[in-house]
Amino acid sequence: MNHNPPPRRPQTPQRRPDGPTRRPTTSAAPRSQGNPARPLIHPARAARRRRQRSVIMSIFVVIILLICLLIGLIFSELATAIGTLVDRTASDKPDKGKTTTVATDVTGDSSTSTGTSAPSAMAMTTVQMAKEEISTGMLQLVGPEHPYVFPASISNIVNLFDNRPYVTLEDGTKTRAYKVRNSNQSLDRTALDALNHMLEAFYNEYKVTDLLVTWAYRSLKDQEDLYALYVKDYPGYSDAQIKQLLLDQVDTPGYSEHHLGTCVDLKLYTDSGVTYALDENPGYLSWLTENCWKYGFILRYPTEKAAVTGISYDPHHFRFVEVPHAYYMMSNGLCLEEYLEELRETTAADGDHLKIEVDGGASYEVYYVKANGGTVDIPVPTDYPYTVSGDNQSGFIVTVTMD
Ligand SMILES: [Zn+2]
Repeated sequence: MNHNPPPRRPQTPQRRPDGPTRRPTTSAAPRSQGNPARPLIHPARAARRRRQRSVIMSIFVVIILLICLLIGLIFSELATAIGTLVDRTASDKPDKGKTTTVATDVTGDSSTSTGTSAPSAMAMTTVQMAKEEISTGMLQLVGPEHPYVFPASISNIVNLFDNRPYVTLEDGTKTRAYKVRNSNQSLDRTALDALNHMLEAFYNEYKVTDLLVTWAYRSLKDQEDLYALYVKDYPGYSDAQIKQLLLDQVDTPGYSEHHLGTCVDLKLYTDSGVTYALDENPGYLSWLTENCWKYGFILRYPTEKAAVTGISYDPHHFRFVEVPHAYYMMSNGLCLEEYLEELRETTAADGDHLKIEVDGGASYEVYYVKANGGTVDIPVPTDYPYTVSGDNQSGFIVTVTMD
């Protein structure tokens, strides 16, 4: 396959080896003259050969031009990719207002206008909230270093077992779209509506009702009881030792996201009575992690964020944070800690806003308001719907729905 058959031999030096055309012609002429055994070439045949040569040369030139064109295209794509990378790096380290403007330009190119930039023109007013209210709302951070502040009374928590949607099986019978470990599980009303929509969509995709909610809302006592079950495995250890040993196994009472009432742990439970982990069915898990943002959920503890969240990979734990925030975190590969930090560092009511245009959905503007003093003045729009959530750290996040 490396060489052509003999009849084409005179042409081969011109076709490829050294590329430039000059060399084959100068070397071919003396060789044909200096070879006495070679017969004279008939003029018609010579003319045919010249035609063949010129055709080959033309093809050669066209190929070279095509290669140049291809190289040009590759360089152009590379330059675009490098430009995007540089700008993304800049937006990942938002230290000054200038950087946030760059991020807007980049995302503006890519079919959505998601990014940080000057706020849209909107009439504003002010609402007042107590500083303690930073420990309320959908976006508050609760974790190993951020204890949950329990409210005086619980509202908006509803029974999950009784409020599951029905789906119609292929044989026509109606059943619940998913299963629950026991009838005591409950969830925040808004998060439950979103969960129901998500798990109905899951049923429509796979036609199975095997998803099982093992845990939803947990009171302080629920968490204490759960923790005690783990403590039993370490008789004779001190409290400090046990706390360290259990770090990766169970949340310390008062530090669990389940206190929020907006999180669920999902497993699988077959009709034959077998429970298994979600990551034992990678297809199901992938569907949930790829689609959960559409319903406002995030996979809260991904492997690559363990150092940031302080909690190792958990394929079961999904948290409701509402659609725009879930969408932005998913699109930008951020966990909640990183997202809140970005909002704190790059947005303000009278500074830049984070503009989020949800793929196939509404547009939002998000900004951070630091909680200074006992009562906090929070600028909010007069003509657009908005929500305010504390971050359970230092301030409030305002989310404005623009359309
Ligand atoms: Zn959980």
